[in-house]
Amino acid sequence: MNSKNLPLRKCVACAQMLPKDQLFRVVETSEGISLDLTYKAQGRGAYVCKSHDCIALADKKKSFNRALKCPVSQEVIDSLYRELEND
Ligand SMILES: [Zn+2]
Repeated sequence: MNSKNLPLRKCVACAQMLPKDQLFRVVETSEGISLDLTYKAQGRGAYVCKSHDCIALADKKKSFNRALKCPVSQEVIDSLYRELEND
């Protein structure tokens, strides 16, 4: 995949702008907050680098809570770590 053509998104932890395929998307939908692996779910989204450091930092700083303006459960953070291991 040529990531140069992908739109840039900002990581909530390190604030770097990266092509979205290098980031995980977390989305707030009517059903709650979840990891959006399709990048297509409707709703407010927040992005984090596919890196252990950025996920840990976002967790520590509660960056997702701020970005999505609502509490993000530990389950969602855990699902990011799980995806990272599968990637
Ligand atoms: Zn980052």
